[in-house]
Amino acid sequence: MRKFFLFFIVVVALLPILPTPEFWITLANYIGLSAIVVLGVVLLTGVGGMISFGQAAFVGLGAYATAYLTTQFGLSPWIGLLVGLLITAAAALALGLITMRLSGHYLPLGTIAWGLSLYFLFGNLEFLGKYDGLNGIPSIKLLGITLDSGREIYFLIWLVVILAIVALQNLLNSRPGRAIRALKGGGLMAEAMGVNTARMKIVIFVIAALLACISGWLYAHLQRAVNPTPFGLNAGIEYLFMAVVGGVGYVWGAILGATLLTLLKDQLQSILPALLGSNGNFEVIVFGIMMVLLLQRASDGLWPYLRQWFPQKPLALAPDVAVALARRSRPASGTVVLEVDRVRKEFGGLLAVNDLVFDVCAGEIMGLIGPNGAGKSTMFNLVTGVLPVTRGEIRFRDTHGLQRIDGLPARQIVKRGIGRTFQHVHLLADMSVLENVALGAHLRGTHGDLAGIFTSILRLNKTEEQTLLFEAKVQLERVGLGALLYEPAGSLALGQQRLLEIARALCCDPTLLLLDEPAAGLRYQEKQALAELLRKLKAEGMSILLVEHDMDFVMNLTDRLVVMEFGTRIAAGLPAEVQQNPAVVEAYLGGID
Ligand code: ADP
Ligand code: MG
Repeated sequence: MRKFFLFFIVVVALLPILPTPEFWITLANYIGLSAIVVLGVVLLTGVGGMISFGQAAFVGLGAYATAYLTTQFGLSPWIGLLVGLLITAAAALALGLITMRLSGHYLPLGTIAWGLSLYFLFGNLEFLGKYDGLNGIPSIKLLGITLDSGREIYFLIWLVVILAIVALQNLLNSRPGRAIRALKGGGLMAEAMGVNTARMKIVIFVIAALLACISGWLYAHLQRAVNPTPFGLNAGIEYLFMAVVGGVGYVWGAILGATLLTLLKDQLQSILPALLGSNGNFEVIVFGIMMVLLLQRASDGLWPYLRQWFPQKPLALAPDVAVALARRSRPASGTVVLEVDRVRKEFGGLLAVNDLVFDVCAGEIMGLIGPNGAGKSTMFNLVTGVLPVTRGEIRFRDTHGLQRIDGLPARQIVKRGIGRTFQHVHLLADMSVLENVALGAHLRGTHGDLAGIFTSILRLNKTEEQTLLFEAKVQLERVGLGALLYEPAGSLALGQQRLLEIARALCCDPTLLLLDEPAAGLRYQEKQALAELLRKLKAEGMSILLVEHDMDFVMNLTDRLVVMEFGTRIAAGLPAEVQQNPAVVEAYLGGID
């Protein structure tokens, strides 16, 4: 892959030096301009899972800002760039704050509205020249050279493309990058790992907008004139097309998609009108058909096909040694770490958890069992901050003693030392086992969200990365997956995926581990291995709350049990006692004695 990148840079650098026809240079410039925008789309849509139709409007902001300042006030294009970036950042931030917190279709709809309104704004403002736009934009001066010709500005455009590729790859291959990759699929898992998902979404929305703005700035100084047409909704959709065709999940997909669609569009624009005997944007129809076919045949885009030819190195490698992370002080064995005090949860008229009382002590395995629908997962979600309690209190021990945690968001609860797994495994199937687990150490990084992003892009995060990846490796070895560090997590068997989730939970250095039906769907041997691991963790001083359906699995494993049925506690005590309790037998066997 590294060789491929070098090859790419050489080709890009040679193109304008060789006697390449002017026509090809012009096309290459347009490819580069689109690629910069589409790299942002890859980050936003492919990696972050958010769809925006409005990227062209940000391109327009960058173009109009510099066009206005340079033509009306005679300012330098570099000032035009700076102001454009500031305006774009402010606009993206405002738009992000409004739309990102909403889920589902609101973001795409919001970006469509944004794209349309900005287009009409450009076209109707007197000082921006209405639909005629602004002319006479000067060239960019760089290192004493005036970039007058297409061949000269080519270097600047492709320098930006290459820098953007490097920046994006650095970012994705880091702690904030893993957090961004975890946004896909709702953010429940990311929040549980301590990621502030709302903030992360806004940050990548702003980054994508800034890339678009830079493309617009270059465009304005290449064209020397701007008008609203290239910044409309059509263009926004085209950028999305490019990303999807190339491969929206891959940085190189952006380059491939921008290249293919720009070339194809150019060809179609000359062929189709001649073929059909009339003028019009017929290429849009062909693009549409292509898109439908592609989504059916290769929904990941075309890049994965090309990628097979290059040897893949895993993104992140675990070091053999690194500075060990500081550990939390553990509460003395036998002290109460979790206290559930008359907790009630109602879903409308349904009483899912009925004034439940129990506690978990340090160094014990506590079982919370009950038949399907008893309210176990609901209780689990109340403790982990996924759901708010209707009534009652949940307290957890930290360095200041027992503190209320009900009402805190999930990411605050994991910060205090409650690690969790999911009943249905939540992992990033394409990401390596190591990186999946490193995500669990998100909160143990040294930088804040923004500083983390800057240091990652600039590669100043080496120590942090090594420390976190080493921690992930240590936890993977602890659960017995040390041999599978670089496998894609999706290729693991279910039992191994469950162990992976435990390793990930261990990465937050928890005092209490919450496991929701970890044995469900496992084969006998896998269950044995899991039980073995939990005993080992307990021996190391870990407190575990085990939510289970399978009575046999918990009988030999747990120290104490609480049995729930229809949200109500029907028994509690030592496993042997509970097993004899008639109410429990009734609940599990439905009265058949
Ligand atoms: P368990 O994990 O013990 O099988 P759950 O906690 O998942 O049980 O469910 C307990 C009850 O609460 C069930 O009747 C379920 O249908 C209901 N329930 C769970 N989550 C919700 C929800 N988000 N909205 C409405 N009802 C829910
Ligand atoms: Mg459940």
